[in-house]
Amino acid sequence: MLMQGKRVLVCGVANERSIAWSIAQRLHSEGAELAFSYPNEAIEKRVRPLAESLDSALVLGCDVTKDEEIDSMFAELAATWPEIDAVVHSIAFAQREELKGRFLETSRQGFQLALDISAYSLVAMARRAEALLAARRGAMLTLTYFGAEKVLPHYNVMGVAKAALESSVRYLAADLGPNGVRINALSAGPMKTLSAAGITGFKTMLHHHEERAPLHRNTTGDDVASTALYLLSDLSAGVTGEVVHVDGGYNIIGM
Ligand code: NAP
Repeated sequence: MLMQGKRVLVCGVANERSIAWSIAQRLHSEGAELAFSYPNEAIEKRVRPLAESLDSALVLGCDVTKDEEIDSMFAELAATWPEIDAVVHSIAFAQREELKGRFLETSRQGFQLALDISAYSLVAMARRAEALLAARRGAMLTLTYFGAEKVLPHYNVMGVAKAALESSVRYLAADLGPNGVRINALSAGPMKTLSAAGITGFKTMLHHHEERAPLHRNTTGDDVASTALYLLSDLSAGVTGEVVHVDGGYNIIGM
């Protein structure tokens, strides 16, 4: 049991298809105690029963665009758990109109919102989590996508946000390292979730991936959860600031 006695905050479960949910289930099966966050009442209704099914009673509200909500989430968390072992950041958002057409049409407001929710939120959370994690030499994990590295149709501003996220992981790793806290990113292949449904042509991406990836199949929740377990447990005690691809090898192919 790699996570026995470990306490993990999981942010970004929207439903059973969420990547964060696959990760939560795996961590729980390895003995972790879990806390969850939700950004609004609609998601709260879905997250509460899911949290209960994994014996979690700590379900906290937090819309990451609001500093006061991030503050109160970590204050409430610390009141129950003064020390934690891990934080999962599985949060991203871009307006639907930014995920089609030409990237150069991206609005200032759309750019700011995507970067704020999808990249800055990691920095904001890391700052609040640092002291809680340091006590147990804990780890953070965020989710990213290949669109940070290469141009993919319609990924647009989200690709730029993921590039900022991946760079933030490296800068945060340098800041958190002296306190014994690690942070890494997991770059998942395309998976059918609520967020993915907002990307124009997503089905084509799935087919293309299956055809071209060395493993000739799409990425599964189990694939991602296993690597998340590695990155959040002591198995990866010497690893920080990395972007680990879990994409059937898609990213290594040139032609
Ligand atoms: P998902 O189930 O829709 O999860 C995204 C989560 O982000 C949702 O719970 C969403 O809540 C939350 N969120 C959005 N705005 C927020 C805010 N202001 N405050 C707090 N939470 C907010 O989709 P997913 O595919 O599992 O996405 C999880 C992560 O994996 C994202 O970072 C995504 O970019 C990344 N990823 C996904 C894929 C893929 O193909 N699915 C591949 C690589 C990486 P709402 O539903 O209320 O917006």
